[in-house]
Amino acid sequence: MEKTSTLTKVQKEVFMNEAILEARKAQMLQEVPIGAIVVLDGQIIGRGHNLRETTQDATMHAEMIAIKEACQRVGSWRLEQAQLFVTLEPCPMCAGASMLARIDEIYFGAFDPKGGASGSLLNLSTDERFNHWSYVEAGVLGETCGALLTDFFRELRQRKKKLKKTSNSPELPL
Ligand SMILES: [Zn+2]
Repeated sequence: MEKTSTLTKVQKEVFMNEAILEARKAQMLQEVPIGAIVVLDGQIIGRGHNLRETTQDATMHAEMIAIKEACQRVGSWRLEQAQLFVTLEPCPMCAGASMLARIDEIYFGAFDPKGGASGSLLNLSTDERFNHWSYVEAGVLGETCGALLTDFFRELRQRKKKLKKTSNSPELPL
């Protein structure tokens, strides 16, 4: 059974912009800039940004934090009729968590060719062998979401290069 989107293009972009705001919060903490929100009935019921470095916890992905908050907000692990917006394609853990929370619609910005589990490497979100599957839409504000990441990694590389240069300079004591 094919699932369809319940949102307009404008709604999708408004909500993705909220996920982008979350990604920027991660960036300010020197975290890889990924952000997510959960929406139900037009209301944002969960927000999250990547906190893996800050917490040194491999499960602290943006989607996990947003889904946890949403479940707490509605007082239920079931998030049927909810929508997940995330700036980067969900990994296997987050695609799995969305499935377990029964999220009906997943919107993501940029593809993750090395880790994505909602279309890139596999597709946990639309596999009808599971007892829940979702509508998935890729590329919502995809360029903005992707640029956040490429800019972040470019800056990181430049910082590392600079660091290397300084540590190689002969006048510095070893
Ligand atoms: Zn994840």
